[in-house]
Amino acid sequence: MRARQIQALTRFTPIALIVNIVNAILVAHVVLPAGAPLFVALWVLAIAVVMLVGFLAWLSRRDTPPRETVSPRALRHATIQGTILGVLWGFAPAAWFAASDLSAQLVISNVMAGMIGAGGFALTTVKRAAVGYVVPLTLGSLTGLFASSNPHALVLAALLTAYATVVLCCVHFTSGLFVRQVLGAIDLEEKGEVIGLLVAEFEQNGSDWLFELDQDGRITRASRRFGVVTESAYDSAVGRQFEEFLEEESRARFRAALAAGHAFRGLEFAALQGARWWSLTMRPILHKSGRRTGWRGVGSDISAAKTAQDRLTYLATTDIVTGLMNRPGFLDAAAAACRPRAGVQPHIAIGFLDLDEFKIVNDTLGHQAGDQLLQRVARHLEAAASDDMRVARLGGDEFGLLFLDAEDHDAVKATAQRLLDSLCRRHVIEGTSISTAASIGVAFGPDDGTDVASLMRKADTVLYRAKEAGGRTVMVYDEAMHRTTEDRYRLREDLSRALERNELFLVYQPIVDIATSATVGFEALLRWQHPERGVVTPSEFIPIAEQYGLIRDIGVWILGQACRDAACWPEELFVSVNVSAAQLADENLSAVVAGALQSAGLSPRRLELEITETLFLRRETETLAFLRSVRDMGVSIALDDFGTGFSSLGYLGRFPIDKLKIDRSFVSGPGTLVQRTAIVQAVISMARSLGMTTTAEGVEDEASLAWLRLHGCTLAQGYLFAEPMRAERLAAFLARMIREPQADRKLPAA
Ligand code: C2E
Ligand code: MG
Ligand code: MG
Repeated sequence: MRARQIQALTRFTPIALIVNIVNAILVAHVVLPAGAPLFVALWVLAIAVVMLVGFLAWLSRRDTPPRETVSPRALRHATIQGTILGVLWGFAPAAWFAASDLSAQLVISNVMAGMIGAGGFALTTVKRAAVGYVVPLTLGSLTGLFASSNPHALVLAALLTAYATVVLCCVHFTSGLFVRQVLGAIDLEEKGEVIGLLVAEFEQNGSDWLFELDQDGRITRASRRFGVVTESAYDSAVGRQFEEFLEEESRARFRAALAAGHAFRGLEFAALQGARWWSLTMRPILHKSGRRTGWRGVGSDISAAKTAQDRLTYLATTDIVTGLMNRPGFLDAAAAACRPRAGVQPHIAIGFLDLDEFKIVNDTLGHQAGDQLLQRVARHLEAAASDDMRVARLGGDEFGLLFLDAEDHDAVKATAQRLLDSLCRRHVIEGTSISTAASIGVAFGPDDGTDVASLMRKADTVLYRAKEAGGRTVMVYDEAMHRTTEDRYRLREDLSRALERNELFLVYQPIVDIATSATVGFEALLRWQHPERGVVTPSEFIPIAEQYGLIRDIGVWILGQACRDAACWPEELFVSVNVSAAQLADENLSAVVAGALQSAGLSPRRLELEITETLFLRRETETLAFLRSVRDMGVSIALDDFGTGFSSLGYLGRFPIDKLKIDRSFVSGPGTLVQRTAIVQAVISMARSLGMTTTAEGVEDEASLAWLRLHGCTLAQGYLFAEPMRAERLAAFLARMIREPQADRKLPAA
């Protein structure tokens, strides 16, 4: 503070030197006639000495930088110097004014008035020096005035006093103002230093930068980091439009953000430089009047975070195995495509594609081969897809197709067919040649539904139908399907109550020993007495029971009922019960079997379970464990519908199977007798070599029976012997069988 006061004071030193000496000579010149020349000369000399001392001190310090601190002594010296000067100047009027003539008095009073004003102003930063200068000068002048005989002396004295008072008041206020100003400046300097330090640290440690724009979006200031980020020289950035550093699409958004005029935070823009992303936070600079004069902002490079985020989004919406969209991605895309545009529901289509028998590949060749096959399929689908569609893998072997422009249903069907055709081919995977085929179900929006969920459900329903119909086909959802879906739905509702309403019952079909013609057992077959539809056959409702998880309870009931019934039959007769693959989902199935046998008091040797090859598609270890555990109880296993599935000899060797049931399509189905004979012959000899017996299903005439006997088939079953019988007919059948053992197969059909 003191340093600043002295600094401000010494600014005037050279000028003060000249003014003082010139004025002193001027005064000396006019007072010479009135005063003793020696005195006058001494007076001028005294003033010159005082000024020169000050000037020499100023000269010596002129080339050194301004001092940061000075001692209180310096202020005292200034005060003393000012006071001496004031006393010297006051001496002149006091000594010589009265004796001077009028014209000299005019010069003296002018000089004194000027010296009071100018000197007081020059010394204003050091208040005591100013007072020490002004007061003696004024007093000296007043003394001269009162001693003179000037008629205006009183008026002049009053004026002089008034001037001096004003000057002193000004000195008082100005010195106060000066102190406050200096303190403010010092404070600002300190703050500036702190902010500078913070900014430097901010820029060094982060990827962030600060910048300022004028109201037209031109850069007025930017921190050095901005130059690094934009790889441009700092100077070249200033004056350029900020948006020049952004990519085309981001420019428009940036302009819009500025035009909105509000502060914004964390808006993301693509930078022109090296495909980077910036996050900008900006705030308008407002003038006191509320007018916007520009913008101030912080920018940071968020490319790394953005890349990570993009990667996450990619992972969340992409199937890792095939690189196609995954189910969530597909749902998002479908939902976006379903959204009405300008109030109009868009024409889209959703297709479900399912590979036929993919599970076999997975189970026989392993998951790696399965993945490879999925990848091949994905590539074929991508290649065959049209531009306005998306392909996704929804999970397992199910793929989703999204047709974005589906106004022309036939065109969509044609595309779907093309996709299907592209898949129906052979692939060589890990040295094994695999043929793939698929089915596709398609639902159209808005005809079949306006939301993704209902379209997906319907596409799924059609797909199921397509597979039921034998696969390798494209099916489209239609009204009839809607009705059957409704129908299935109602059937399912009814079925869920069928058990408690006692609507289910079993019928029994005899199984006959071909060699002796004696009935050796019965196959239990399920029937449903529907209150409105009459008797419903298992092929109509068992798939529904399986699909909706009703098969478990129904299966438990069948096993119990069949065992109870069989317990009443003659000892030598067995009962054969069908077990569907879905029932094996129940891990306690072997316990259920054991419980049924025990509570009916039936020997396990009299129970046979009929399984189908689909069971082998399940996890092998579990299936094997189940079969082994029932086998250990003494229950035998028959493989039903043999020849209709994907029978592989590998399965037959691995699983404990006692009997093969040759499907009725080989006994009395289509194809020439020669072809069928060849197959049946092969099956029988293979079964024999594996130590299994064979049962021929669907034997309807004597001729078939004759050639089955010829080829050595063990057992037979079919309308030739008897149709499946209800309990009452079975009782009569059994009674007759006991009475006349050879007459059973002549029993008329039920
Ligand atoms: P499946 O086990 O192969 O049963 C034989 C089917 O052939 C029975 O049909 C039977 O009525 C029929 N059939 C018997 N002899 C002849 C014949 O000489 N000619 C012709 N054309 N057909 C004959 P059904 O009862 O309609 O059963 C169909 C399928 O439903 C069964 O095939 C079996 O897979 C399943 N099923 C039946 N009952 C049950 C059950 O209790 N549980 C389970 N899980 N499935 C069952
Ligand atoms: Mg069966
Ligand atoms: Mg069968």
